[in-house]
Amino acid sequence: MGSQEVSTADWQGKHVTVAGLGVSGIPAARALHERGALVTVVNDGDDERARAQAAELEALGITVRLGDGATLPPSTELVVTAPGWQPDKPLFLAAAEAGVDIWGDVELAWRLRGTNGRQAAPWLAVTGTNGKTTTVRMLASILQAAGLRTAAVGNIGVSLLDAVLGETEYDVLAVELSSYQLHWAPSLRAHSAAVLNLAPDHLDWHGSMEAYAADKGRVYEGNTVACVYNAADPATEELVREADVEEGCRAIGFTLGAPGPSQLGVVDGILVDRAFVKNRQKQAQELAEVSDVNPPAPHNIANALAAAALARAFGVEPAAVRDGLRNFRPDAHRIEHVADIDGVAYVDDSKATNTHATEASLAAYDSIVWIAGGLAKGATFDELVTGAAKRLRGVVLMGADRALIHEALTRHAPEVPVVDLDRTDTGAMSEAVEHAARLARPGDTVLLAPACASMDMFTNYIKRGEAFADAVRARAEESA
Ligand code: ADP
Repeated sequence: MGSQEVSTADWQGKHVTVAGLGVSGIPAARALHERGALVTVVNDGDDERARAQAAELEALGITVRLGDGATLPPSTELVVTAPGWQPDKPLFLAAAEAGVDIWGDVELAWRLRGTNGRQAAPWLAVTGTNGKTTTVRMLASILQAAGLRTAAVGNIGVSLLDAVLGETEYDVLAVELSSYQLHWAPSLRAHSAAVLNLAPDHLDWHGSMEAYAADKGRVYEGNTVACVYNAADPATEELVREADVEEGCRAIGFTLGAPGPSQLGVVDGILVDRAFVKNRQKQAQELAEVSDVNPPAPHNIANALAAAALARAFGVEPAAVRDGLRNFRPDAHRIEHVADIDGVAYVDDSKATNTHATEASLAAYDSIVWIAGGLAKGATFDELVTGAAKRLRGVVLMGADRALIHEALTRHAPEVPVVDLDRTDTGAMSEAVEHAARLARPGDTVLLAPACASMDMFTNYIKRGEAFADAVRARAEESA
């Protein structure tokens, strides 16, 4: 099935059910309606906000059904879903039974790209358990340094649909894809793609590690130039092996060690390319220095290598890789230094919402007072705690699933003092910081790296990070 063929599909009179009024559902409903589809939006919620959104869509002639996201409208020929909707929802089971296709927001954007005669720019795609946003933004920075018209889009907060249907023309898109989005994107064919790493996350949604890995692996399907994998994470290489790619597409590894042929890696503090060079048996091309990567922590150098590999697969010159990495500034709440108080550093890694990210973050410091907890999303904490036990000065736990972490600490680090905060109001973070400060000694790092999602106590990880930073700053002012 060629993408060109489907992207010009005739929408006129087609009955499409859009599942979910939300950031992806509303633009999807509008775009399909504008193309002549007969759109019905179904939504579980029926609150004031949903009613206001429904009224706007209804004014355009779109049908909206609030308070029932479970029943499939009988004439449905296609379902377009918000990425987060659980795949075992009755609506999807009914669609599968009726032989109706289900597309996510990414699939819709992929199919509609190029239909306005402009946005057929190739996609360089990034997925993985951790590091997606960082890598995609590094990649966009490199592509920009090469003089290409590009944007970082997708799961990063910029809608793919807006990017492919908007007025701006692009030469190439740097696309972040979540496992949910990949699950619902069967015909996506990227120019090149990277899976950064694979660790258990969102298992409650996918059902199993195998299903999660399979969804991530879809990013490699149909790649034309390069499938980029993490040489330190054999599961990512396995996904490349299983993928059905275009003739001539290469497997390219990245490693923090010296690269073999067809790999990018590090030699004496230099990021080098042994993949996109004339003679990869004998030749290596210098790309940048480790100190060009911001921050130069090991996991972030891995991200930089993955971004460089995708850019090189697209034909970007080495100097642009270096300039793009130098220009890159990390986003907030990702190992962000907030303040030093009484010789103790306070670091906000609120974005560490799973154990894999937290492991990377705990590995970056020698003596830590760790603030953790929230929604575990089906994770276990034994391995994380075992690996970090020796470096923990103390732990402050909060949130719904804190007992799971507490139990792991009791099993593997019984001597480490633990404060268990039994409150879930937003003021709890100030108390957590207070306890952490009491446990810390000069030279220590107080690290917010929760290993959990935030939604039990905060709107999102940003609000959680801000609550931490506010509490730390208030303390800094008091002690000044
Ligand atoms: P994502 O978009 O995949 O959530 P981010 O770039 O926003 O990734 O980083 C999420 C978290 O993962 C941060 O806490 C960061 O410190 C950590 N992290 C970033 N890159 C990696 C990596 N390659 N391996 C492990 N952890 C990482």
